[in-house]
Amino acid sequence: MLQLPIYLDNHATTRTDPRVAEAMLPCFTEFFGNPASASHVFGREASKAVENARSSIAQSIGAADPQEIIFTSGATEADNLAVKGVAEALSDRGDHLITVQTEHPAVLNACRHLERAGFRTTCLPVDQEGHLDLEELKAAITDRTILVSVMAANSEIGTIHDIAAVGAICRERGVLFHTDATQAVGKIPFDVREIQADYASFTAHKMYGPKGVGALYIRQDAPRPVPQMDGGGQEQGLRSGTLNVPGIVGFAKALEICLQERETEERRVRALRDRLYAGLIGSLDGITLNGSADRRLPGNLNISFEHVRTDALLMSLRDLAVSGGSACATESPTPSYVLKAIGASDERAFSAVRFGVGRFNTAEEIEYAIQTVCEAVTRLRASRRQRAQGHVR
Ligand SMILES: *Cc1c(COP(=O)(O)O)cnc(C)c1O
Repeated sequence: MLQLPIYLDNHATTRTDPRVAEAMLPCFTEFFGNPASASHVFGREASKAVENARSSIAQSIGAADPQEIIFTSGATEADNLAVKGVAEALSDRGDHLITVQTEHPAVLNACRHLERAGFRTTCLPVDQEGHLDLEELKAAITDRTILVSVMAANSEIGTIHDIAAVGAICRERGVLFHTDATQAVGKIPFDVREIQADYASFTAHKMYGPKGVGALYIRQDAPRPVPQMDGGGQEQGLRSGTLNVPGIVGFAKALEICLQERETEERRVRALRDRLYAGLIGSLDGITLNGSADRRLPGNLNISFEHVRTDALLMSLRDLAVSGGSACATESPTPSYVLKAIGASDERAFSAVRFGVGRFNTAEEIEYAIQTVCEAVTRLRASRRQRAQGHVR
């Protein structure tokens, strides 16, 4: 039986997998101790749960040592700690950072914050598919450059960057490399050694884990960022505050499940996404794919419907939870900066819809989505034609 509404916004967040929720439950009522309370068994049990989770997460991303994982409240905090913390730590060595126009606001606004403090940032452009030009990256690196921050995969248009190539360039030029890997970890192969990352951010709630917990990977020989939070000195002094034990346990469980099921899930989700796209272009004309046709996250589909406004379309798709632009920018009436960066006109940007297919979507749901979107677009285009004719008369 088809249950409505249908959730197709898995880049904004994901449903916590029931297996994850189950793993978290004992941490609320049984192992509820503070992991910093080493003097009693409650604290030691909680600490053991956290350290098991740390080892598991470290292993999942190819880290050499569990201590390379620093728990945070999510990817936003991890991005801030990496970008601002590394810039502050190395301010005597340089004052220049490089990032990309399509990064998440957590990275872009951290860079703006640093600019107000006297740092300079270069924000590299991207091509029509959302890819950056590696030659431009090389040319932008100077002897004052401290850090390069390039995301693994874009949350809006799904474009996957060649971060292994970015990492190789950074290593060769002696510049530190941070990647916001939030949309990649658990979904596509991701290994910090392969990409030679010094820092990597990711978060549990994009991989069927709970909200409010994430991590920053810090390579063991990389410079330590300056902490952005003062307090009791938890997480090797890099992130003070009592650890979110249930969240951390759920985070590890969520990533374990992602890795166990990744290959079959990647194939299944990609097939659903491809079917959604085929179904839409099979019945509608005037569709533009935003982003890359092939180097793209398996669950991501971002398309513009000619002569249809996103807000009107979303309003008539009451049974479908999809997004226009990015979730973080839906309050603002400005066109998506990511779509503008790939050269989309305002009109194309204001007619874009992002579909995020995920673990809990079924083939039946995709067929329903195709049907309702086709009906809504056809209806909106017809009423627009009528209005235009009325206007002529
Ligand atoms: C969701 C997201 C973030 C923010 O993560 P939070 O854990 O919600 O702070 C950062 N970067 C990317 C690419 C994201 O998709």
